[in-house]
Amino acid sequence: MPELPEVESIRLGLVDLIGNEINQVRAYKTDSLLDPNSLDLSLLKKQTLREILRHGKYLQFILDDYKFLLHLGMSGVLRVNGEIEKHSHLILDFKSGGQLIYTDPRRFGYWNLMPMEHKFPRWENLGPDVLARNFSGKYLYGKSRRSAVHIKGWILNQRNVAGVGNIYASEALFAASINPLRPANSLSEAESRALVRELRRIMRKSIENRGTTFSDYRLSDGKSGGFQNFLQVFQKEDLPCPKCENIITKINQNGRSTFYCAQCQKE
Ligand SMILES: [Zn+2]
Repeated sequence: MPELPEVESIRLGLVDLIGNEINQVRAYKTDSLLDPNSLDLSLLKKQTLREILRHGKYLQFILDDYKFLLHLGMSGVLRVNGEIEKHSHLILDFKSGGQLIYTDPRRFGYWNLMPMEHKFPRWENLGPDVLARNFSGKYLYGKSRRSAVHIKGWILNQRNVAGVGNIYASEALFAASINPLRPANSLSEAESRALVRELRRIMRKSIENRGTTFSDYRLSDGKSGGFQNFLQVFQKEDLPCPKCENIITKINQNGRSTFYCAQCQKE
């Protein structure tokens, strides 16, 4: 699933479309993607793309009269001038000749077109973005005091902090030497600061490498990201820890895999 660095890398690949007018809209099999309350996508025609915002894993396309909220789900891909495939569900042709194609074989993505004044609850309810200034050690420490859920689940909750998914959760907890099973409210202030610092550092480094590609994720130009080459613990079970050579452990938390070093990340 694309996390903050992958969505940001995609957004950066789309900025050349800003300032262009959409002159054709084609949408196919949108039933599981489009919010039931969304305006009709044909309204995108004759609209100029003004801005592309990102918060956590969500993108928001700002047009003249409307805004379009989009989440890539598990396997959504946004391509500029790519190939139209069997699972291409939205094709926007721009007056300049550019074409934006949304392809999503598993259709877990989400779209919603609304008038400019609308406030999307999914967007408004997100916690601070990992890369935003208001996501600080002080914030994490204060916000987690009343939460006994394990820290990995806490950082995956998009209402606490937006943009963290399964890959970067394991990586940041390892880098900050924090055991993923610890209750969120057991972290000290220093540990809270370290976790925020590592989340931001790892996400920035991943953006520099255009994200992590395991299966579906592709950039807007169709290329793969490169951060999978820098992963320390994710999917490294039974391999030696890069810090201490103890064997990396894989566990299941809320149905999702977590990878950590029991030696470096003590309970
Ligand atoms: Zn270790």
